[in-house]
Amino acid sequence: MALERTLSIVKPDGVQKNLIGEVYRRFEQAGLRVVAARMMQLSQAQAEGFYAVHRERPFFKDLVKYMVSGPVMVQVLEGENAVSKNRELMGATDPKKADKGTIRADLAASIEENVVHGSDSVENAKNEIAYFFAAADLCPRTR
Ligand code: GDP
Repeated sequence: MALERTLSIVKPDGVQKNLIGEVYRRFEQAGLRVVAARMMQLSQAQAEGFYAVHRERPFFKDLVKYMVSGPVMVQVLEGENAVSKNRELMGATDPKKADKGTIRADLAASIEENVVHGSDSVENAKNEIAYFFAAADLCPRTR
């Protein structure tokens, strides 16, 4: 088991539907700790930069439009195997394909409006955390 950190976002649909608490409850129940959090309205440039890896995908324009459509809640989660644990809690990108009991299966409306983002590797987690937080913003709760 490895102590890891991962970046999580409650996306605009999740914030709009008042699901921040429900999503945090699932993180905490699974043993993940919130060590930094910030609500923000992403700019076009911030959303494009965050999803730059998807720039050539057909859904990129819609994805950016959705991500700037309202405030998001951005957090760093810490815990054993935090990256894969968070991905398990989230479920598959398409809520129709996500396992029952996952955030997306239970709460998401569509493949686009799917409530949460979560880093998909330890390496990407490092970059995504640095995209939104300075090292001093993190409050590790482990010694
Ligand atoms: P994730 O890691 O599970 O979030 O999935 P991806 O990295 O593949 O995609 C990033 C985000 O783009 C997803 O969470 C969705 O919000 C959106 N997305 C992915 N695939 C599609 C698609 O086929 N159509 C649309 N409209 N949005 C998509």
